[in-house]
Amino acid sequence: MSFNEIFPNHTCIVCKTEINKSKNPYICDACTETLPLRKETVGAQAPFSYKSPITELILRFKYNAEGDVAKMVAPFMADCNIDTQVLIPVPLSPERLKQRGYNQALLLAKEVSVISKIPVKEALVRVKKTTAQKHMRLEERQRNLAGAFRVKSPKAVRGKRVLLIDDVYTTGTTATECTRALLRAKAANVQVLTIARVE
Ligand SMILES: [Zn+2]
Repeated sequence: MSFNEIFPNHTCIVCKTEINKSKNPYICDACTETLPLRKETVGAQAPFSYKSPITELILRFKYNAEGDVAKMVAPFMADCNIDTQVLIPVPLSPERLKQRGYNQALLLAKEVSVISKIPVKEALVRVKKTTAQKHMRLEERQRNLAGAFRVKSPKAVRGKRVLLIDDVYTTGTTATECTRALLRAKAANVQVLTIARVE
């Protein structure tokens, strides 16, 4: 395989300069050095802290459908301390999905799957209409999301080690509610993986 096949002409998603060669084809090595890598390896996994330039990249991914962001972060996510049999994206509500046109957690899960070869199952659904949580306090978030998720394909979950995938881990409320639903469906254990964690 020629060098150009491995590295199609690409620009760095952070500084927009053309990449001739870098460890990751979507970001130049100089910008890779600026990424806020986390060292913590216990609990909910995330390769990055929710800090610049990751914050801006996640917003571009979430609201402008920039799929290259998912492709750039996927190798970092796949390198996290995970031991799982199935990747499960956090679902959007049907209304939000219609509005946005795609579920960013599903896109992420698919990119992690390409690298890890672990299958993706959209096993969860949102059954309760919830409101945006950005400005809510913890107790409000918990009330907002209580009972919001249900497992629609129990067979994909029962007896399995599953990995919940989302873009950002903020207070853990979403992850906790999804985990509850997955454990009710008899998942053997539930781990969590996001691009970034708010510290
Ligand atoms: Zn760059």
